[in-house]
Amino acid sequence: MKRDVVVVGGGCIGLMSAYCLHKSGREVTVIEKNDITDGTSFGNAGLLSAFKKAPLSAPGVILDTLKLMAKGESPASVHPTFDLHLYKWLLKFAASATESRLKRTLALFERYGQISLDMYESMVKDDGMDFHFCKDGLLMIYTEQNTFDAKAKLCTNPDAYEILSKERTKEYMPILNEKVIGSILLKENGHVDPGEFMLELKKYLESNGVEFLLNEEVQRLEFEGSKVSKIRTSKGSYEAETFVLSTGADDTLAKQAKNKFMMTPAKGYSVTFKMKDELKPKTSSLFADLFIAMTPRRHTVRMTSKLELGTTNPEVVRKQIDSIHKNLGMYTNKFDMEEQVEWTGFRPLTPNDIPIIGFDEKYKNLVHATGLGWLGITFAPAIGKIIGDVITKDGKNETNEDVLLFSAFYQG
Ligand SMILES: Cc1cc2nc3c(=O)[nH]c(=O)nc-3n(C[C@H](O)[C@H](O)[C@H](O)COP(=O)(O)OP(=O)(O)OC[C@H]3O[C@@H](n4cnc5c(N)ncnc54)[C@H](O)[C@@H]3O)c2cc1C
Repeated sequence: MKRDVVVVGGGCIGLMSAYCLHKSGREVTVIEKNDITDGTSFGNAGLLSAFKKAPLSAPGVILDTLKLMAKGESPASVHPTFDLHLYKWLLKFAASATESRLKRTLALFERYGQISLDMYESMVKDDGMDFHFCKDGLLMIYTEQNTFDAKAKLCTNPDAYEILSKERTKEYMPILNEKVIGSILLKENGHVDPGEFMLELKKYLESNGVEFLLNEEVQRLEFEGSKVSKIRTSKGSYEAETFVLSTGADDTLAKQAKNKFMMTPAKGYSVTFKMKDELKPKTSSLFADLFIAMTPRRHTVRMTSKLELGTTNPEVVRKQIDSIHKNLGMYTNKFDMEEQVEWTGFRPLTPNDIPIIGFDEKYKNLVHATGLGWLGITFAPAIGKIIGDVITKDGKNETNEDVLLFSAFYQG
């Protein structure tokens, strides 16, 4: 039996692509090598942070990182490696961090961030999905006076920003100590519980007829002329009209189609724990100078940090977890973190924060949906919509405005 659309990879990008394709009347099969209960789309911070938040490839980021490295507080590190691809990636990252690119990227982030926020809202209200979703801003906490003053000076629009003193900041996050300088609330942002979102989305898709083939790894793509003729998995083989590759940081299958994407796995960590309700952060918060996020959830709080390049080790490394606790401890009073769950995952990171989306350049029925880096949850609904549209309405990249604007195939 030839299937209609097969989506390979059941992370947030694969499931949102399946959702939008299903809404457009297509028959969808999702093939996932695990069971959609864990992974990068589950353990992340859940920030929906498209508004007024500088991309990773922002001017000055390299200097700021080097300063933190000198202080021993850097969240970012590069493991020594013989992988030339990573060095090319780093060069491209440095070259992308320009003022003109920054403006353009921020505008794109707002465009696709708004589409995503509206879609999250509709999934809760119209589809009846029950996941923790809040549109109550992102609190950027500053620990350096100079950085805070420089940022605060630029925050002139009261609809988008609220500048908070040290005392007001402590009302938002009661665990903070005297070393914190102040904060800026980026009002348009929000947050979700990514695990709840993923499970609710899967439940919705299953009950609406989307087929799930779990614990089945796609091992090989087979080609005939300019098409993917079938895929071979650990359990069998499948033909389909269209194949979507949404395998996150794992580019093994994309390489079989002769793609060498400018993307690298960027390892990060989270620790999820229980704490006293009165001490919980009132909204999602990010220590701007330290790259540590804290997100309140229904029953727990999640802390995330670290961006390690040049490693594919899937283990939780104790030294990294200890370093997150140490960095946080410098700016907080002692508090109890109960029932801690430590986790690690890999961001599919491109050097300029632009994802890899759209039809493959060689194979007419192959579509890529990856490269969302540190913003996959923020943009998953919008990316799903773009993938749905390019497959069902356009049939090619050149007539889809969003692919032209927001895909590394055109803006790399
Ligand atoms: C520490 C950390 C914090 C983060 N915080 C945020 C945040 O606050 N906000 C935000 O927007 N984003 C955040 N992110 C980024 C976000 O989690 C990712 O961008 C997003 O999860 C990527 O989704 P994906 O679907 O592309 O990849 P994944 O979630 O990795 O999904 C890919 C799936 O493909 C499957 N797969 C791979 N190969 C095969 C195969 N051959 N056959 C079958 N299945 C296969 C994998 O098992 C996996 O389930 C964070 C990431 C990390 C690591």
